Amino acid sequence: MKAIPYGKQNITQEDIEVVVDVLKADFLTQGPRIAEFEENFATYIGSSYAVAVSNGTAALHLAAMALGIEPGDRIITTPITFAASANCVLYCGGEVYFADIDPETYTISLEAVEKLLKAHPKGYFKGIVPVDFTGYPVNLEELKKLANEYGMWILEDACHAPGGFFIDSKGQKQGCGNSNYADAAIFSFHPVKHIASGEGGMITTNSKEVYEKLLVLRTHGITRENLIKDFPNPELQGGWYYEMQELGYNYRITDFQAALGNSQLKRADEGLERRQEIAEKYYASFSENKGIKVQKRSKDAYNAHHLFVIEVSDRKGLYDHLRVKNIYAQIHYIPVHLMPFYKKFGWKEGDFPNAENYYKKCISLPMYPSLTNDEQDYVIETVKSFL
Ligand SMILES: *Cc1c(COP(=O)(O)O)cnc(C)c1O
Repeated sequence: MKAIPYGKQNITQEDIEVVVDVLKADFLTQGPRIAEFEENFATYIGSSYAVAVSNGTAALHLAAMALGIEPGDRIITTPITFAASANCVLYCGGEVYFADIDPETYTISLEAVEKLLKAHPKGYFKGIVPVDFTGYPVNLEELKKLANEYGMWILEDACHAPGGFFIDSKGQKQGCGNSNYADAAIFSFHPVKHIASGEGGMITTNSKEVYEKLLVLRTHGITRENLIKDFPNPELQGGWYYEMQELGYNYRITDFQAALGNSQLKRADEGLERRQEIAEKYYASFSENKGIKVQKRSKDAYNAHHLFVIEVSDRKGLYDHLRVKNIYAQIHYIPVHLMPFYKKFGWKEGDFPNAENYYKKCISLPMYPSLTNDEQDYVIETVKSFL
C-alpha cells in the first residue's frame, strides 16, 4: 500500500491545460482569469463580492484591515484553529482573546463567547473570528445576535468549509462564507483544502465598502479610481496617474493560479459529495466503537469535511501505529494559546480545558476526494486493529 496522507489535491488534465493556456497568453498576473475566478467563486459561495489574494493568511490580514482593526482592539477567536486565524489580529496591532470550544462540534462555543462578553463592558471586544473547523459550520445567525448586542463584527474563517452550510431559524440554507450573517469570510486554496491553486486565498463579503477597501489594500494601497487628486500640479496628470492612498500590500494572486482555482471550482460539488461518502463510511465504521469518539453531526449543519477527526485515548499510539502502516494522519490543531509565542501574552495550560482535552485525543484521518474505497477500508481496518 502506498503512503496515504490526510489530505491531498486532485489535478486533472483539464487543470493542467488551463494553466498552460495562461502561460502562453499575455498576462502571468493581473489577467482576466482572476476576475473570472472571483465571479464564479462569489456565485458558488453565495456572496455579493469576492476578492482573490495570494493565500488564506493574506485574506485574513486584509479582511481584518478592511473591517477596521486598530492597535489595541480586542478580538476573540478559537484556540482550535490554524495560527493564522489569530495572527491576523496581531498583524493589525490588535489583541487576541480566546473562547473555549464546544466539546462535541469542536467549533467555538457560543456559550463561552457569551460568558466572555458578559464579563466585560460593552464595546470591550471589537470583533470575532469564528472558524468552521473541519468544515462544520458555526451557527452565525446565533453568533450574529451576540455580535449585534455587543457591537462586534464577524470575520468567518471558512478555509475548511466551502460548500458547508447551516439551516437558519427560517429554514434557509446559509452557505459558509456567504456573509449573510458575517461581515466578511475568508478561504484558502492551499493544496490540502477543497479547491487547490498552489497558494491562494479569497475574501467574500456583501459589503461594497469592504469590497472596495480590499481591492486597494491588495495592491499596495494604490488605486486609479476614486482619486483624491491632491497632487501639487494636477495639470501634470496623464493616463499614467495613480495614487497610493493607504498602506497596503502586494497580496495579489497570479493569473495561472486563478485559472487553476477556477478549473478546480468546477469540480467542487463532486469533491464535496465524495467527502460526504467518505465521512459516512467513517461514521458507520466508528460510531459504535467504544474506544472512539466522533465529531457531532446535526441535521441543521452540513459539514464540508475538509477533515475527518476522531478522538482516542492513546492518540500518540494510534498516530505511530498508522505511520508504521504508511498512513500519514495529522493532528488539528495544537491549541493556539499554548504555542510558545502566544504563551508570552500570558495564556497558559488550563485556560481552555475543552480545547486542551480535545487536543490530547484528536487525530485527523485521511479525507480527500481521490481516496479510494480500498484505501479507506485499509485505514479503517488499521485503526480498528490498533484499538
Ligand atoms: C489553511 C488555513 C488558513 C491559512 O491559509 P493559507 O492559504 O495556508 O495561508 C487559515 N485558517 C485556517 C482554518 C486554515 O485551515
